[in-house]
Amino acid sequence: MELAWDPWDWQNYPITQQPEWHSRDELEAVRRELTLRAPLVYPREIDALKRGLARAAAGRAFVLQAGDCAESFHEHSAAAIRAKLRVILQMAVVLTYSSGVSVVKIGRIAGQYAKPRSADTELHQGVEIPVFRGHIVHGDDPTVEARRPDPQRMLTAYDYSRATVATVRALTEGGFSDLSRAHSWNQDFVASSPEGERYETIAAEIERALNFMGACGIDLSHEEVLHQVTLWTSHEALLLGYEAALTRLDPASHRYYDLSAHQVWIGDRTRDPKGAHIRFASGITNPVGVKVGPGMEVDDLLAVCGELDPDREPGRLVLVARMGHEAVRARLGDLVTAVRVAGHPAVWLCDPMHGNTFVSEAGYKTRDFEDIMDEISGFFEVHRRLGTWPGGIHIELTGQDVTECLGGGEGVLEEELSRAYDTICDPRLNARQSLDLAYRVAELLIH
Ligand code: PEP
Ligand code: MN
Repeated sequence: MELAWDPWDWQNYPITQQPEWHSRDELEAVRRELTLRAPLVYPREIDALKRGLARAAAGRAFVLQAGDCAESFHEHSAAAIRAKLRVILQMAVVLTYSSGVSVVKIGRIAGQYAKPRSADTELHQGVEIPVFRGHIVHGDDPTVEARRPDPQRMLTAYDYSRATVATVRALTEGGFSDLSRAHSWNQDFVASSPEGERYETIAAEIERALNFMGACGIDLSHEEVLHQVTLWTSHEALLLGYEAALTRLDPASHRYYDLSAHQVWIGDRTRDPKGAHIRFASGITNPVGVKVGPGMEVDDLLAVCGELDPDREPGRLVLVARMGHEAVRARLGDLVTAVRVAGHPAVWLCDPMHGNTFVSEAGYKTRDFEDIMDEISGFFEVHRRLGTWPGGIHIELTGQDVTECLGGGEGVLEEELSRAYDTICDPRLNARQSLDLAYRVAELLIH
């Protein structure tokens, strides 16, 4: 007989990608402390996101999930959060205005601090050091000392997540995201670019439309949807002790919710259907994402779907395909068909980032904008062919003017990568590349 789930029973299942904490006692003390901390999000919000995702599963909304590969303890200023929010709002405006489809906006934000890695160590100037696993585990300096896992960092990650949630809430509820201020989301370095100018045109048209309705005597001042937006939070549920400590039984519904974020996802390296991560995710009520890489077999995917979504609940399951642009057309179709035949009303997202990473000649980990677009095009082609809905995109980006990915409207060149290569993990699209991508995805949505 199967045992009842509890937030900590993943400890009885095989687990990978965990730091080697040095003190069991300290780890347990931090976990206990976290169980006493206030939730970062609330069950009714999670339920609302689930309804939004259910609309996407039914082909009536498009999901934009975007943000840093890894959030940094060194970059949590209101200005950095505002810049990230701005570019996500701009992309959502472009997508909605151009395609007429409503957009569910989810940030990789307020908790995206833990990273799975392909290898346990890396070479730095000939010295082998532990690989960087995110600021929730250790520092990013390339030294053995900095990379020593420190459980106290889970409390710091909680504090920064909490501050980030508060900032996002203040911005989205406090007029910053008012559609009549869509102009002001265009940052200086974006506004002067072709992508920025194109965005200005849309913002001006929206303003005209709002003025027109006002002149007709329609009072829009009480229309909440025009004056505030919701940016839901999400991160990879990798450190299960952190997640379990923030998982609470909701007295109203008698269901467990992981209150560290509205949505969490399980990475491509930890999605073993019989492993600890899927066990943990199976018992929480949140929408759960699963990364689906080129190595995913149909049987494994169906096993994962069976564990996570036995009730075939719309809005529960988000499958994030990250095949790489060369594999997506050949690999995705069978998986989408199998999930549909099995009756799971999953939302399919395209993560065009993680299957398209390579190292430039000068040694920078990078991605080419055209490969990214090619994977998204392939994703749309597969769904169009099958008559299923391309539910959304999952993107690594930043609001800053970085040079980490190649190409895009402004055409970042290989020799330019060194100018502003700031990421602590994977290469992100900058604000202009992100806007450019939104225009091209909007075109795919129309055709
Ligand atoms: C990520 O989203 O940053 C990530 C590590 O993805 P994946 O699990 O798909 O490799
Ligand atoms: Mn990444």
